[in-house]
Amino acid sequence: MAVSLAHASVRRVLVSARGPSRVFATAAMEGEVAKALQEVTSRIGAAAAKAGRADRLPRLVAVSKTKPAEAVREAYDAGQRVFGENYVQEVVDKAPQLPQDCAWHFIGHLQSNKVKTLLEAVPNLALLETVDSAKLASKLDSTVAALGRPPLAVFVQVNTSGEESKYGVEPAECVALARHIQEQCPHLRFAGLMTIGMPDYSSRPENFQCLQDCRRAVCDALGLEEAAVELSMGMSGDFEAAIEMGSTNVRVGSTIFGARQYPAKAS
Ligand SMILES: *Cc1c(COP(=O)(O)O)cnc(C)c1O
Repeated sequence: MAVSLAHASVRRVLVSARGPSRVFATAAMEGEVAKALQEVTSRIGAAAAKAGRADRLPRLVAVSKTKPAEAVREAYDAGQRVFGENYVQEVVDKAPQLPQDCAWHFIGHLQSNKVKTLLEAVPNLALLETVDSAKLASKLDSTVAALGRPPLAVFVQVNTSGEESKYGVEPAECVALARHIQEQCPHLRFAGLMTIGMPDYSSRPENFQCLQDCRRAVCDALGLEEAAVELSMGMSGDFEAAIEMGSTNVRVGSTIFGARQYPAKAS
């Protein structure tokens, strides 16, 4: 009896010392992330070369949503610095566990009432890719000002699939939102356009073409150079096609970190 009690308490101590996120960092994963990252990086290089853009490689955002800090750390140790997260609570928990020179991109739907939490907890938030309303832009602008942060780079998210259920502005509305950011939000820096594609997170050439057309319209309306306006498009299934169609920022998750094992948490 005494023996089994002692055994049980030792086990408990071990479990709590390792912490809950350790559970997901299985031995099988060791080294896998670094290897996958290297493969994705070389595929990006090849796609850029094919598109005649070998001198302007697109940025790789390693999408670490639902993955433990240890997996992000492995990518970091392999040289990756830009990471993407979808959920406010998750990035608020994870970012402080990683070095401060990580550049976090927020790529999920953001509610105005979570803006302060996100900006306060993640000082190294480098880019918010999912601005989809003037209300959200204005809230970001005033919060950046109140926190005394440097201007925050943002992308406008465009719904290029025409599906009702997706976040993002309609293509016809992207000029108005980009103009609002450019003219009314001095603490934001309008840096580009982002799209997911189809509602099932796949995409078609039409989605990428639509985002290119949006950029042309925004540049014409606001007098910007196309080179100054990024296109964030392409995920695990289609990043090479997206690069060939002008993507400057690909968001790749499962190909680097493995399939996501558990359902997305609500932000
Ligand atoms: C999850 C996610 C990704 C990455 O998707 P993968 O197919 O795992 O590469 C990219 N962009 C957004 C907006 C996402 O939510």
